[in-house]
Amino acid sequence: MLKNILSPKTCAECRICCIFDKYDVWETPVISSELKAAIESERDDLKFVSKGETGAYIFNMENNRDEKKELFFCPALDNEKGCTLGENKPFDCKIWPYRVMELGGIQVISVASICPEIYSMPLKIITEELERGLGDIIFAEADKNPAIVKPYEKGYPILKVRSR
Ligand code: SF4
Repeated sequence: MLKNILSPKTCAECRICCIFDKYDVWETPVISSELKAAIESERDDLKFVSKGETGAYIFNMENNRDEKKELFFCPALDNEKGCTLGENKPFDCKIWPYRVMELGGIQVISVASICPEIYSMPLKIITEELERGLGDIIFAEADKNPAIVKPYEKGYPILKVRSR
């Protein structure tokens, strides 16, 4: 989805967005019940944790921690192949490092500065991508699957505010 600004090769070599520490577990991809069913029809090795009344899920990463138990690895990540989900890759992953968040009742699109490739780009390129249609796609997905909307996280630059 971000092929205009991020090459698949760059992402395949990085994978920073597929590994989480205890402070960014909230960043793990949100999976709708429909997507969960689609993934389960092809994979019985992946387990899920319910996100309660949102009706959505995240991956259970308890068995995918490093020895010191400080890092969690997405169970869909393969060391050689990268993400193994293909078309079933969660929307959160398709748009990372963009994030849709809610601040004071208003949806905003921000960007995670931890992505080294995006962080090194001029701001103009990152914001223009949103104006070329990606912003509308993200807000439309937020309407369809509100569980992807995260509470605003301090320090995340806001690139676009949803007009009412
Ligand atoms: S689902 Fe795929 S892209 Fe998303 S965090 Fe897991 S391995 Fe990475």
